[in-house]
Amino acid sequence: MSNIRIIAPEEMERQRGYGEKVRAYYAARRGGGEYGAPLACVRTYGCQQNVSDSEHIKGMLAEMGFGFTEEPEQADLILFNTCAVREHAQDRVFGNVGALKNIKRRRPGVLIGLCGCMVQQEHVAEKLKKSYPFVGLVFGTHVLHRFPELLYEALTDGRVFERPAVDGVIAEDIPIHRDGKFKAFLPIMYGCNNFCTYCVVPYVRGRERSRDPDRIVEEARQLVREGYREITLLGQNVNSYGKGADHGVDFPELLRRINAIEGDFLIRFMTSHPKDATPRLFDTIAACEKVARHFHLPFQSGSNRVLKAMNRGYTREQYLDLIAYARRVIPGISFTSDVIVGFPGEMREDFEQTLSLIREVGFTSLFTFIFSPRDGTPAAKMDDPVPAEEKSAWFREMTAAQEEIAAAQSAAMVGQTRRALIETAENGYLEARLPENIVVRVEGDPALVGRRAEVEITGARSWILLGKIAEVL
Ligand code: SAM
Ligand code: SF4
Repeated sequence: MSNIRIIAPEEMERQRGYGEKVRAYYAARRGGGEYGAPLACVRTYGCQQNVSDSEHIKGMLAEMGFGFTEEPEQADLILFNTCAVREHAQDRVFGNVGALKNIKRRRPGVLIGLCGCMVQQEHVAEKLKKSYPFVGLVFGTHVLHRFPELLYEALTDGRVFERPAVDGVIAEDIPIHRDGKFKAFLPIMYGCNNFCTYCVVPYVRGRERSRDPDRIVEEARQLVREGYREITLLGQNVNSYGKGADHGVDFPELLRRINAIEGDFLIRFMTSHPKDATPRLFDTIAACEKVARHFHLPFQSGSNRVLKAMNRGYTREQYLDLIAYARRVIPGISFTSDVIVGFPGEMREDFEQTLSLIREVGFTSLFTFIFSPRDGTPAAKMDDPVPAEEKSAWFREMTAAQEEIAAAQSAAMVGQTRRALIETAENGYLEARLPENIVVRVEGDPALVGRRAEVEITGARSWILLGKIAEVL
């Protein structure tokens, strides 16, 4: 039996009521709207899940009558949606929030708020309470749907700090304001049960819980109807979708159902965990023509000793077997990954195992991180004898190795004609993205942004391919 609690429709209705109150509050303050709509500046840090949460925050704000600005100086509400995964990301938020103090001094009517993973941590909330008195609204990851109510309280009743540890909650029907017109994020699950020893996510996002498959498929269908060309299914561990739920639909089955929707669109998903990536999943991808032939499969380390200390639940050999199986059943599939260097106790021999795995797989690109100790996680208490300079040297060695691999792969693509999505027009060029996430720069009419095209690859630079449009689809 699942212990997921779906927020009741009456509660969502109650929130819409608060939204009306917020609208009335600003109308009254502005003398009946004489100065136009209030403006919100929403800044997002961290991963795609946060980007998706911010789209819902903006959806609620739009429903409350807000317009949007990128400039904190012009905003009535400044809201930072924060990330806690690495110390560096957190320091940046504290720095940027500190810089807002002067805005609040000059314009006391502005409301400054923080939400997301970082503020779900007790010590962060305490620091904000004590040392950042100009921050008037702080809310955690489990109460996103109550944003209208919390905003109204902060506007009318003083500082609000609402970050309960409630868990297992799914809120449906939150309005959404998508930034993109042809690429959409679609969350399929929330939270994580894996407790990798370095990672703060399970503590700040709660236990894994999957959304109802019918709702997901209906949302995907609606996106296709609206003309979206690419749908990215989101979750901390998408391939454990459905575990513990009563509906009996797992991730491969969900992929099949979305793939069956009629239309010209590409399905992506992230992030996957190697311990839950099964041959059946790869067989499903092979059978689903709309699923991108690209897999983001974080391996974190190539050393079995370090993988064990990380509590990852697979070995180097198992990871390589998965890659080999996938390449067998899905010709042309490409891989990207996440890697951590300098995990506590990692030695040069371990790092060399990571390097050799990188060379053996030949990833298209890597997200590379130096271990960052996070409060409350087991790894933060582990012995960590390797000096920071040595970790940085390993890090540079790893990125250089990856650059070499990527350059060779790019050079080998010259002469191919591939299908790509034209995403941006800048400085006289269009940028088109291949399914494996590589960008090809082409010449063409900016009106083609959002269209798919066959692109002939004519040259390769270190980070980008050059090409020309062979046919617009
Ligand atoms: N759930 C996903 C997974 O398992 O791959 C991604 C979660 S996390 C937001 C994204 C990446 O950040 C992880 O894959 C890991 O490489 C990195 N990361 C997480 N905690 C870290 C830490 N304490 N120090 C350095 N990198 C970390
Ligand atoms: Fe963090 Fe591991 Fe969960 Fe990914 S799978 S969110 S790295 S605990």
